[in-house]
Amino acid sequence: MTDFTGKHGLIVGVANKRSLAWAIAQATARRGARLAITYQGRFEEHVKELSDGLTPAPLVLPCDVSSDDDIASVFATLEREFGGLDFVVHGAAFASRDDLSGPFANTSREGFRLALDISAYSLIALARGAGPLMARRGGGSIVTLTYLGSERVFPNYKVMGVAKAALEASVRYLAADMGPANVRVNAVSAGPVKTLAAAGISGFSSNLHVYPDRAPLRRNVDAAEVADAAAFLLSDAARGITGEVLMVDAGFHVTGM
Ligand code: NAD
Repeated sequence: MTDFTGKHGLIVGVANKRSLAWAIAQATARRGARLAITYQGRFEEHVKELSDGLTPAPLVLPCDVSSDDDIASVFATLEREFGGLDFVVHGAAFASRDDLSGPFANTSREGFRLALDISAYSLIALARGAGPLMARRGGGSIVTLTYLGSERVFPNYKVMGVAKAALEASVRYLAADMGPANVRVNAVSAGPVKTLAAAGISGFSSNLHVYPDRAPLRRNVDAAEVADAAAFLLSDAARGITGEVLMVDAGFHVTGM
C-alpha cells in the first residue's frame, strides 16, 4: 500500500541533507518512486550532490517558486520526461529575517507579501501545474509541510504563522477543487526539527527544548518520522484522506499546559 513502484513524484523544497523534503524524497525513492527534485538557485550544488546518491536517479531542475515561468518550465519537463505525475511534495517556505523578530505589528507590507507568496501561494501554483499531469494517472496526491504556529502563537514565528494559516486553508480549498479528479491535498504539521529554515527563527532551539518536556511522547520528532507520515499521505494507503492536516509532533498539540 505504501509501495511507490511505477510512481513519479515532484519534490520541491530541498536545500540540504537536513531538509524535510529531502527526507521525504528518500522515503519515497526507497519505496520505488522516480523523482524530480527542484532547487532554488543558491542550493544547486548541494541538491545535485545529494541527488547523485539517490536511486533511481532523479531529474534535478531549477525552480524558484515565486516565478510562474520556472514553475511552467518544471511541468513542461515533467510532461516530456514522465508523461504524467502521481505526487507532489511542497516544502518551500520563506520570510524575511526582519519579519521574524520584533513586534508583529511592524511586519512590512512587502514582507507579508513575500512570506505568503513563497510559503502559501506557491502550493496553489504547483497544484495547478500538477493537475493536468495527475489527470493522466487517474489522480494523485499533494502534500505540504506546515507548523502549529498557524493556530497558536510561538515566539518569533510571526508572519510565518500567518503564512501557514493561509497554507492550511489553501490545502482545504484545493482538496475541495481537485477531489473530483481524485487528486488529494494534505499537510503534515511537523514538530520542530533542526533545519536551515528553522535556524532562521530566532530562539528556535528553545522550542526544541520545550517539546520533550510537554509532548506526550516526551521527545522531539525527527525528519524520518515526518517523512514516513508524508509518504503515507502520498501513498494509496491514504486514498480516503484529503483536506487533512496530520500532526507529527510527538503529540505536543494536544497538551494544554
Ligand atoms: P529547509 O530550509 O531545508 O527548506 C525550506 C526550503 O524552502 C528550502 O529548500 C528553500 O530552498 C525553499 N525555498 C525558499 N524560498 C524558495 C523559493 N523562492 N523558491 C523555491 N524554493 C524556496 O527547511 P525545512 O525545515 O525542511 O522546511 C521545509 C518545510 O517544512 C517548510 O515549509 C517549513 O516551514 C516546514 N516546517 C519545518 C519545521 C521545522 O522545524 N524544520 C516544522 C514544521 C514545518
